[in-house]
Amino acid sequence: MIVYLAQCLCPQRHALMAVYGEDEKTLEWRLRQMIERLIDKNAINPWCGICRASVETWYYEVAKTRFATMQEAKPALSRLQSANLEANSLLSDSPVLGKGAQN
Ligand SMILES: [Zn+2]
Repeated sequence: MIVYLAQCLCPQRHALMAVYGEDEKTLEWRLRQMIERLIDKNAINPWCGICRASVETWYYEVAKTRFATMQEAKPALSRLQSANLEANSLLSDSPVLGKGAQN
C-alpha cells in the first residue's frame, strides 16, 4: 500500500487544506466535499488566509507520500498539520493582510 496526500492549494501554492489516505481515487473528491461543507457552514473563509486568492482559483493535487501505511504516516503528517496551522495563525494576523481587507 501507499499513502497519498491530497492538497487544496491557492495559485501561490499556499496549502489551504489537505487529507491523506490509501485510496488515491477518492481522496481529491473527499477533500473537495470537506472544503465545500466547511465553506457552506462558514467554518472557513472562501479565500486564502495568506494571499486572499478566492475559492474559484484554488486547485487540487494528489501525490504519493513516502509512507506505506496510514499508521506510519500519521505522526509525520500530524506534525506537518500543526506547523501549517501555526504558520497560518501567525500570517492571518499580519498588518499587511489587515490593510488589504479594508480596501
Ligand atoms: Zn495563497
